[in-house]
Amino acid sequence: QAKQLGRNTWQWFEEAMNSQASYRVKLRNQLQDAIDNHALTLYYQPMIDSRTGQARSVEALVRWEHPELGLVSPADFVPLAEETGQIIALGEWVLDQACRDMVKLHAAGFRDCSVGVNISPVQIRKTDFLATVKRALGESGLPAQALDLEMVESAVINDTSQVVDTLHKLRELGVQISIDDFGTGFSSLTYIKQMPANRIKIDNSFIKEVIKNRSDAAITRGVISMAHHLSLEVVAEGVETEAQANFLRRNQCDLLQGYAFSRPMPFEQLTEYMNLHGHRGAGGSDNAE
Ligand code: C2E
Ligand code: MG
Ligand code: MG
Ligand code: MG
Repeated sequence: QAKQLGRNTWQWFEEAMNSQASYRVKLRNQLQDAIDNHALTLYYQPMIDSRTGQARSVEALVRWEHPELGLVSPADFVPLAEETGQIIALGEWVLDQACRDMVKLHAAGFRDCSVGVNISPVQIRKTDFLATVKRALGESGLPAQALDLEMVESAVINDTSQVVDTLHKLRELGVQISIDDFGTGFSSLTYIKQMPANRIKIDNSFIKEVIKNRSDAAITRGVISMAHHLSLEVVAEGVETEAQANFLRRNQCDLLQGYAFSRPMPFEQLTEYMNLHGHRGAGGSDNAE
């Protein structure tokens, strides 16, 4: 059935999610196979410092190399993995791999580059997440400051206190926390007070028409200003054009991420990219200029 794909992947998954149990079971088994046999891979997308033009942060984005569908987007399979609980094993693999890759990037001279890792609310609620992060850092040797956990606001809805407590402990370790897709949640202003974050990422839906749409422009400027008053750093995601980048630079957005600079790419390519556009940190490195 997967073969008769005149439709796009998303529809295929949507159907799988909503149709017969047997279909879903097949997909779940395939995903389990991918997790067990390392058919998952991480792509990285740089975030550019708006003042220097250099990359000093990257985001890890998981991909599934599906035998029939090709490279599958996480937007398609993360919801399934959250439903089945597979997100826990998947998320641990992502965290470990991202830490290992970043240690390699640091060794190549990019000592103050941090890596953003997307964390599902399920991971924080259903596991000893603090222990998982400590282990990943310990085993890889990555400094806590170089790890940046990207979380959506809804992560702290419902069982707020336990999750917020975990986030505070992570901050005490030195780990960074970003609020992802900012502006799309239910209760941005309430949760931004409670989340011990040090960065927010403005959702790409606001950036898309920031040049044409006066409301989007006003919201974007307002969010940047608010974030700075809260001592938070601001990332704009989905920056596709030079006009958008200029608008964001003019309005003091700290970091820019999007196709205007680079698409997500495999780690090998990231190293080459960083050699051209990366910030070489001093951080006690022998390789520093
Ligand atoms: P996100 O965290 O908001 O990631 C940004 C998404 O925007 C990525 O999609 C990225 O490829 C895409 N993007 C980047 N620049 C542009 C641009 O200029 N224009 C447009 N239109 N899109 C751009 P991707 O890789 O398909 O990931 C989708 C979502 O899946 C992510 O959204 C994140 O929520 C989730 N995700 C990705 N990796 C993981 C993971 O390891 N664990 C978990 N739990 N979720 C993940
Ligand atoms: Mg993200
Ligand atoms: Mg995002
Ligand atoms: Mg987004």
